[in-house]
Amino acid sequence: MRLRMTIHAGIAEESADSTGHPLVLEQAKSWVDSCMEQHDLCDRARDGSWYPARLIDVVSGRLVSTADHTPSGPYIALSYCWGENPSFLTLTAANLTQWTVAIPATDLPLGFKQAMEVASRLNVRYLWIDALCIVQSGSGSVEDWHCQSAQMRHVYSNCLFTIAVSHANKPEEGLFCSRDGSLYKPLRLKIVTTDTLTPRYWQLECFGKFDEELDRAPLTRRGWVLQERLLSPRILTFGCKAIYWDCAAEEGKTETGSDSAIRHPFGISRSSLHTLIEVYTSRNLTSPMDRLVAFSAIAETKAPSRPNNRYFAGHFREELPKSLLWYASTHLEKPAIYVAPSWSWAAAAGYHQFIDGPFTTSKHDAKVVHVHVDLMDEVNQYGQVSGGFIRIEGCIARVAFVKKSVENHLWFYFDYKHCHERSWDSYLFLLIATTEDGVRDLILDKTTSGKEDHFQRVGFAKFWPEKSEEWLEQLERRLVTIV
Ligand SMILES: [Zn+2]
Repeated sequence: MRLRMTIHAGIAEESADSTGHPLVLEQAKSWVDSCMEQHDLCDRARDGSWYPARLIDVVSGRLVSTADHTPSGPYIALSYCWGENPSFLTLTAANLTQWTVAIPATDLPLGFKQAMEVASRLNVRYLWIDALCIVQSGSGSVEDWHCQSAQMRHVYSNCLFTIAVSHANKPEEGLFCSRDGSLYKPLRLKIVTTDTLTPRYWQLECFGKFDEELDRAPLTRRGWVLQERLLSPRILTFGCKAIYWDCAAEEGKTETGSDSAIRHPFGISRSSLHTLIEVYTSRNLTSPMDRLVAFSAIAETKAPSRPNNRYFAGHFREELPKSLLWYASTHLEKPAIYVAPSWSWAAAAGYHQFIDGPFTTSKHDAKVVHVHVDLMDEVNQYGQVSGGFIRIEGCIARVAFVKKSVENHLWFYFDYKHCHERSWDSYLFLLIATTEDGVRDLILDKTTSGKEDHFQRVGFAKFWPEKSEEWLEQLERRLVTIV
């Protein structure tokens, strides 16, 4: 058998030299259509009758209040980077009434205008952009932000799909990028064999071609975006060279038909809360005050249905005290402002990891007696906090330096820079849990309040004490309050 082989670069002769080219948007439309028609799985969790309070109507160019006007179809949500010191046009108390008549589209940043163009080309009438649908300044803006940010989970989980602008640092940089279109045509092989003479076609699949671009993209590094990505039923990503498609049934599709080897977190049900916190804390957040808020929608979806399992500054009651066993993998300065109690992972900036067992059950394990947080918004247990404490009964060990050489090793992970550059006399270990290879402790320090039983967390330690059972029996068991 002899083979004759030719490579045909694509079906269309025209080259799509921008990610905003009609051929590219046609590709996006075919992904949306085939997902809607063929994937039952992708629409299962979406409530098509739920709408955010305001939407941009791309047909009339107006801002509509969904309480006054029931939209006539689905909406698209936008996920993008705001950039440092944003100065672009946003919704304010002053322009709200005017925008219900007409949004001044020509004054909007390029990325927003192009997102409207995508919605219109894909025949989706409504678009949600936080900057244009939540009042950003003026009278009532704080209340509006609190109210709308608590709805974020629903905004992203009930949209038809999310447009993610991965390449841009700010909306002024636009959605579409120019490129060499010939590189992004689907490559097909035409193979003719002499025994059949009927040509057969294969589409070339190449893996990992776009991974690097997506992995380094500004949007991928942004903390806020994780929940947008995890909650959305479908994501259409605009990269600097190509567009990509992710839905529950098909992840990592690209224009050339190839799959991406990288699996960015997609689909919230598949990951544990601790895994999600680890991914989240590896990303950047401009404002430390957002650390709990930007994670709140993810946390809410992970809440088990039991009514007493409340959420306390990043921790579910039922998972305490073992969920306090997180450690800081990057050592940063202690934040100058209060973000969360010291025992919460949200208190310290940077990337954190969790010790998830397996744990052994021991009479020496710590017990939570009481936990409390002061919520900034009383009805939103997942939001920002202004104070809090946890009261734990557990085994305490004091730290002392000895000169004799010892066999055993201790692993210390301080939460902040400089914690080790001082006298350790005031540090205590609070044993939280035991595993087959040792004990897992919090490192506590006295607070400046002068109260005997008040401490703050400064780190995490693990070690395997010699003659462990004997050593554990000698420990003092007492009640401590960690703020
Ligand atoms: Zn799908």
